[in-house]
Amino acid sequence: MALSPAPAGTVSRFVNQARLAQRLADMARIGATAKGGVNRQALSVEDGQARALLTGWAVARGFDVATDGIGNLFVRRAGSNPDAAPVMTGSHLDSQPTGGRYDGVYGVLAGFEVLEALEDAGITTRHPVEVVAWTNEEGSRFQPYCMGSALFAGKMDLEMVLACTDPKGISVRDALAETLALAPPMPSRPFGTPAAAYVEAHIEQGPRLEAEGLTIGVVQGIQGSRWFQVEVTGQEAHAGTTPHGARKDAFQTALRMVTALNDLMHDPDDIIRCTFGRFEVLPGSPNTVPGKVIFTIDFRHPDAGVVKEKGDAIAPLLHSLAAPCTVMVKETSTTAPVDFDPLVVEAVRDAAGLLGLSHRDMPSGANHDAKFMAPRCPTGMIFIPCKDGISHNEVEYASPEHCHAGAAVLAETLVRLAV
Ligand SMILES: [Zn+2]
Repeated sequence: MALSPAPAGTVSRFVNQARLAQRLADMARIGATAKGGVNRQALSVEDGQARALLTGWAVARGFDVATDGIGNLFVRRAGSNPDAAPVMTGSHLDSQPTGGRYDGVYGVLAGFEVLEALEDAGITTRHPVEVVAWTNEEGSRFQPYCMGSALFAGKMDLEMVLACTDPKGISVRDALAETLALAPPMPSRPFGTPAAAYVEAHIEQGPRLEAEGLTIGVVQGIQGSRWFQVEVTGQEAHAGTTPHGARKDAFQTALRMVTALNDLMHDPDDIIRCTFGRFEVLPGSPNTVPGKVIFTIDFRHPDAGVVKEKGDAIAPLLHSLAAPCTVMVKETSTTAPVDFDPLVVEAVRDAAGLLGLSHRDMPSGANHDAKFMAPRCPTGMIFIPCKDGISHNEVEYASPEHCHAGAAVLAETLVRLAV
């Protein structure tokens, strides 16, 4: 079929700032909290209402809707080649219990705005362009997180996921059935359908873009992480009678370990992230020398070499510092860094340049659904600034201008990949 591809810069002129802002406001009413955020946890009534609202908008514009075995919601604008795999975009509609109005939902609605802009511009793409709202990215009500994108990508087992329960004992299976009943019936499709590319727009959830006065983050990948649990064992003793030289004080030993770890993880460029989020001192009595300390290490970096080298150095370092106590170091989780596809990264960077928007390359500090799409198809992400870098918080805010800029970059990127 002969195509008359629109010149670069066409579709973004049809990206409508007011319409996108209105859709974000309409979505934010579902699960709205008194402090201005949203509580729209995965597979809740509010999640079902959000899906119904998006489905209604999609049907009204003549787009096709579909779902799958975990309730991922797909909105498709057809391309000229029915055999071509879709170029996909999207994110998630679920939120944290005290979540904001932009985390996730921005990526879904920016994608939907692109579908509408393509429609308004009358642009025909060869590939279909498809918006997806992944089920349960947040993992606040049901673990594991990112279950929708992980199942789509073949990285989890459906029966295992359906059997997961929330703190009230409600299973994913039951909650999913109730949630899907709130949206109109639609065709179901299998997991793992081919995708030509995947591009996810998201608020940065960090302070960097705002601090540098930039509009667009060209995301190069998602940093890797390694989690450890450390157990230091000493000996409980009387705090008044035991000389320091005779003590096996688990806390003092743990303190030396933390100091040495801070030295190991010191990074003048401030890219390494190292957090001791849990620190338990036992037995926790003011007049007993601590006999045991349990603490956790969360360590992250975008470079696989650094993740390996620094992570592998942790256990030997802690063992060398253990005397007169003993130490057990257990790695509890390992996630390799994800590098996004240069094809998509370059398309995002070029789109920002084309639109005259200030931008920088950067890694993602948080995990996203894009992590699971990256091994399946050329994948990338677009960040926009959020106020004070605050996210997972009811005060989370991104300006209409920045939301529009991100959607415009997304539009140009998707068209380039879909033509
Ligand atoms: Zn998110």
